[in-house]
Amino acid sequence: MKKYCDTCGQSRDVTTKEIRDTFRVKDKEVDVTITITTCDVCGNEVYNEEQEKKNDLIVFDAYRRKSNLLTTDEIKAIREKYGLSQAKFSEILGFGKKTITRYENGSIQDTVHDNLMRLFDRKFNAAMIFEWRKNDINPKTRTTMSFALSNQDVDETRFEYSTTTRYAFPNHNLKIYDSNDGEKNVC
Ligand SMILES: [Zn+2]
Repeated sequence: MKKYCDTCGQSRDVTTKEIRDTFRVKDKEVDVTITITTCDVCGNEVYNEEQEKKNDLIVFDAYRRKSNLLTTDEIKAIREKYGLSQAKFSEILGFGKKTITRYENGSIQDTVHDNLMRLFDRKFNAAMIFEWRKNDINPKTRTTMSFALSNQDVDETRFEYSTTTRYAFPNHNLKIYDSNDGEKNVC
């Protein structure tokens, strides 16, 4: 494969390889494997727009996992479960029109937005949010969402979270242990 090398000032044969690198994103450092392209003659890195975008996603998703935020794929999975476009998903949640698009393209989501999207993953919550928002959203969005909610195949257990701390509500019978009276059941 040939690409233009800025250092050599001409088109050169290039090599693509995976490297391990550390990046600082906001308050955290993340270790990731990214793909880079280098010039076979001078050895310098050659710019590859498509690859840069993929690398950015890898870095930002690593940050998300570390910060216990939904990854881009997880956001997409929740949205698609209800058959919603990015614009419709934004609309139901009350976000700006392009917000979900930005998140799925890599922008790191606001924590409050993350909480809301995560809650929306559960059909019960999605139905409640939809109920509150119903009169303020476009009829087409309303139809899509009503259909998804009436579809038995859409359920809250299909989507599995990728990190352990996301199992916040495993069941209704929480058990509290205390040293004096052993076990107590609370609801
Ligand atoms: Zn070169």
